[in-house]
Formats: sequence, C-alpha cells, structure tokens
Amino acid sequence: MPAPVAQRIEYRFPKPAVGGSNPPGSTTLLLSLKSNNKQKLTVEIFSPSIRIGRMDFPLYSTKDIKIKEKFNLNTPLGRKKYFAAKAGKEVAELKEYLDNNTFIGFMLAKKMAGKGTYSKIFEEIIGTSRVYQFSIGDLIRKVHQTLESDQEEKSKILEYINRKYRGYISDKTAIEALLNRSTEKVSVPTELLLALVKREIESKPRKAVFIDGFPRTLDQVSYSLYFREIMNLRDDPDFFVLIDIPESVIDARLKSRVICPVCNTSRNTRLLPTQFIKYDKAQGDFYLICDNPECNGYGKEKMIPKEGDDLGIKAIKPRLEMDGELMEQAYQLHGIPKVLLRNHVPIEESNKFDSYELTPEYSYEVTKSGKIKINETPWTIIDDDGIESHSLLAAPVVLSMIRQIHKILLG
Ligand SMILES: [Zn+2]
Repeated sequence: MPAPVAQRIEYRFPKPAVGGSNPPGSTTLLLSLKSNNKQKLTVEIFSPSIRIGRMDFPLYSTKDIKIKEKFNLNTPLGRKKYFAAKAGKEVAELKEYLDNNTFIGFMLAKKMAGKGTYSKIFEEIIGTSRVYQFSIGDLIRKVHQTLESDQEEKSKILEYINRKYRGYISDKTAIEALLNRSTEKVSVPTELLLALVKREIESKPRKAVFIDGFPRTLDQVSYSLYFREIMNLRDDPDFFVLIDIPESVIDARLKSRVICPVCNTSRNTRLLPTQFIKYDKAQGDFYLICDNPECNGYGKEKMIPKEGDDLGIKAIKPRLEMDGELMEQAYQLHGIPKVLLRNHVPIEESNKFDSYELTPEYSYEVTKSGKIKINETPWTIIDDDGIESHSLLAAPVVLSMIRQIHKILLG
C-alpha cells in the first residue's frame, strides 16, 4: 500500500496586486483541500475579516551579510549565540541599564499571537534578575488559588485591596465576582484587577515588567485611565508592545496544536513537532510523542488535540475582533512610545531575513523501508491583506523588540 501523503491545494481570490491590499470590507478566501488514503475530502474556507486597519507595522530587516553562521533558534544556547551575534551591543547596554533602572511594557496583541513567548525569550536573553513578565490571566488564577488555600497570604491580599481598591461596588462583591468568574467571560471588575496588577508590580520593585494582556471590558476613557494608573506607579519609562499577526497564523496554530495529557506541554504537528514522530497505520495519521525531559510521559505519551481547536479561529472570532479594537485604541494613545512587531514578511521581501529565521512547515511520509521521513519547507501563509507571506520564528521578532526597546530607553 502506498504511504499516504497529505495534500493541500490552496486557491484564493480575488488576488490583490503585489504589495497592494484588498479594498476595505472585502475578504480573501483560502480554500484548502486535504485528502488521505481513505479518499476523505475536507474543504475549509478561511476568511479573515478583521484587519488591523489604521495601524502601520514597519518591517525591520534582521539580516546581516557579515554573519555567515546559521543558528538553531529552537534551543536556548542557539538563541544566546544568535542574539550575541546580531544584537550583542544592544543586549549588553540594556543589561547594564536595567541593573539600575526599570520599565513597564504593555504587551498587546490578539489571542495566540505569542505575547508570552516573546516576553519569555526577552527575559531569557536580558536575564531573569532584570525582567519579570506576567499575564493577566495567570495573575487572576494565582490570586484565586491563594484566596482559597493560603490564609496568611489571603489576609495580606485582602488588606491591600481594602487599602488600594476604589470602585463602585464593594471590595467584597468584587472579590466574589473574581472567585465566581466563568472561564468564557472575563468578569473580574476592572478596579479590582487594577489593584491586583499594582500589587504584582510593587512586589518586583527592582525589575522591568512586561504585562501580558489587558482588561477587555473597558470603554476608551477608562482604557487610557487604566494605563495611566499603572504608569504612575513607578517613576520609570513605559511603552506598548503591539504585535501584528495574520489570522491565518492563529488559525493554523490552533488547528494543528497538540497537548501532552501528562505535562500539558503544547506543540504543533505542522509547525513545532517534538523529536518523536509516529505513524498510526490504522488511522493513516502521524502524531507526536511528548519529548519534555521533565515529563513522566517522555518518549511514550501521545500528544492529542484540545477540544474545539479543530474549529480554528471560528470559535474565538469575537475575542479576536475585540483584541484588534483594543490594539487600535492603544495605537492611537498619544504620549507613550510603541514597539511595533510584525511576525510575518511578504515573500517578496523575505530576503531581508536569513532563511533560518523563517518558520518552517513540517510534513511527513513513510518510506518504503517503513521509516518516517520529515519534510521541511518554509511555511507560506496569506496575511490579512491577502498577501502571500512567510511567518517569522520568535527569535527574529524578539531581536526587533530588543532593538526598538533599546532605542526607547537609551536613544
Ligand atoms: Zn509530557
């Protein structure tokens, strides 16, 4: 029996002029057909509708023709060498600056854009003694857990909230709302969230802080007040980090995401496989085995899709719309510097990057001798303007982030 090969045929219309974009309100349709040995045909219609319209994200080249070495951007050591070669001076100066100074960076992007990944790599390169990053979601979960399990810490939190909280509902009602919140809806009152964010920042007085995420229920006025409140906390520079990512990337990240049931590590069959790839003959399917060395399932646990992920962005579209709108509001706020990051590059301009900086796409086949062959090609996507693009790995995006932050802080 011949080995199955997944086929992907893409057709899209209307094709915009090179470098041009679709007229407002139009959509790009991406039709992809997949077939396997059972002749099952799946038709997907992909239509990104939310464009980050008025925002302009410049493309910064990270190619340096003097550097001939290729770096493995998937390992900490490879990244360390990469940043030393491409931004050694900026990294050293930022480290020195942050030994005596701090900043607050607000990370704003659509869900699944990689905010956590980018700030973690920044932290890895600049040093955990200088940088601290937290997400609003993790903070709420942490506070919730503490309120339920740690009496001593609980009374400290309540005392702080009692002192700092200003809101139209009582602090007790606000805390009840936090404890009874549902996972689908963020219903934590903004004023309470603000008090908790302040407390978290104050707990790290000597560190630069990245805040990942923002309250999603604010109007324009309270939105800018929210940022001003946090900015006035410390006498240090603040900036926004805005990330532009095509919805087709978010869609693919969701659809091919798999999770280890034991350690919850998340990987991607198409974009970020583990070192163990297996083939299920009965299903005609390839799958990944967990390779997290700290996991009890290392080398044996099958990684599985998360429920609902197969729907891709369809299931989270309202959320993406809202994230996009809030990004636009932040973009328009005056008086605060902005770090603008693009995670993708039009194919025509991909020579501004080294080929190892582009996200590869993996596909697999079984050879005649029964071995699994891994094929690696640069991943091609259609961005929100309908332009054929490549996606960038996290490291070159962080490189651009380091250079822009360096410019904001040190000129
Ligand atoms: Zn695992």
